[in-house]
Amino acid sequence: MKEKFLPGERVEDLAEYLSQRYRLWAPAAKEGAFVFAQVVDAGDISMDYSTTLLPPKHAFLPTAEILASVDLQTGEADSVRPDDPPPAIFGVHPCDLNGLARLDQAMREPPADAAYHRANAGAFIVGLACLKKCRPEAFCDSTETFRPNGHFDLHLTPMEGGFWTSVQSDAGRALADDTGLFEVPTDRQRAEYEHVRRGIETTFAGRRLNLKTLAADLPKIYPHRMWEKLAERCFSCGACTAVCPTCVCFDVRDEMSDGCRTANRCRSWDSCLLKDFAVVAGGENFRGRRAERIRHRMMRQGSYLARRFGLPVFCVGCGRCPHVCLGKISPLDVFEQCQKEVGSGVGRAA
Ligand code: SF4
Ligand code: SF4
Repeated sequence: MKEKFLPGERVEDLAEYLSQRYRLWAPAAKEGAFVFAQVVDAGDISMDYSTTLLPPKHAFLPTAEILASVDLQTGEADSVRPDDPPPAIFGVHPCDLNGLARLDQAMREPPADAAYHRANAGAFIVGLACLKKCRPEAFCDSTETFRPNGHFDLHLTPMEGGFWTSVQSDAGRALADDTGLFEVPTDRQRAEYEHVRRGIETTFAGRRLNLKTLAADLPKIYPHRMWEKLAERCFSCGACTAVCPTCVCFDVRDEMSDGCRTANRCRSWDSCLLKDFAVVAGGENFRGRRAERIRHRMMRQGSYLARRFGLPVFCVGCGRCPHVCLGKISPLDVFEQCQKEVGSGVGRAA
């Protein structure tokens, strides 16, 4: 990996450069919080944001979109997006970089999702290191997703005078070489960066899970009264899945527009916590009970998809779902309780 130094006063120039070539998404302040929004003016970007309400997932998987349209009079079909420039996501924290990597794995698994491919084609991602936890509910230390783990083109680590820049991809290398914004780091800057990296490792050292066994541990408590206890605190509101960087479930419906001239195949985000999510033809609901739904989500985040994609855990510990959950249900608490039950938690069999 190539390494560069970006002087602090040039970070806006970098965003400006990207905004002229890409549809730029970046963290911006909104009504007392932060969101990933499409920005036109690089001055609107909040580089020192804590975390965003929603992860940047919607740049690649919009909350609602038309997958294909058919003109019912001519029979012409259109499934291609307008010629927008590709997206660039700027200032993505490590948990969300890991979230985008998991989203990518899920959506590219055969049969790969064509609309996701189109939305993602030519995308450019700039990561931004976290020097401290964004909020008390975050547990990226336990999921070991406070490290960027490679799913980026450039990754910026704030340090004195600017940003240490890790260059990961060919597109990142070309940008770093072409823009003239980056400098060759000095030995003093390298030493300072190593110091910052060690500080990050120390800050995020509070691991509470045994990731070696979590994916295998969870199915052992599939039948357990804890799911009924959790269900007493769950309102089936679906907020947890709406804010999650690794939830990828969606619904597809056909709708008419233009006075019934056009038929649209539409998709929108869905949630496995909603009561009707698992209703199938004939009206049968194979996860009709709340306890079954909350168990499914925890199994999916901690075990099913982790095992399917060769990861220790699918949840990236961003802390968004416990933050928005009215019942204060946290995957960390559930995973930790599971490991206590089966005797494999940190400090036991780690
Ligand atoms: S946010 Fe909390 S209350 Fe709402 S569905 Fe998720 S777990 Fe249940
Ligand atoms: S399950 Fe919760 S903590 Fe884990 S990635 Fe999703 S929103 Fe973040």
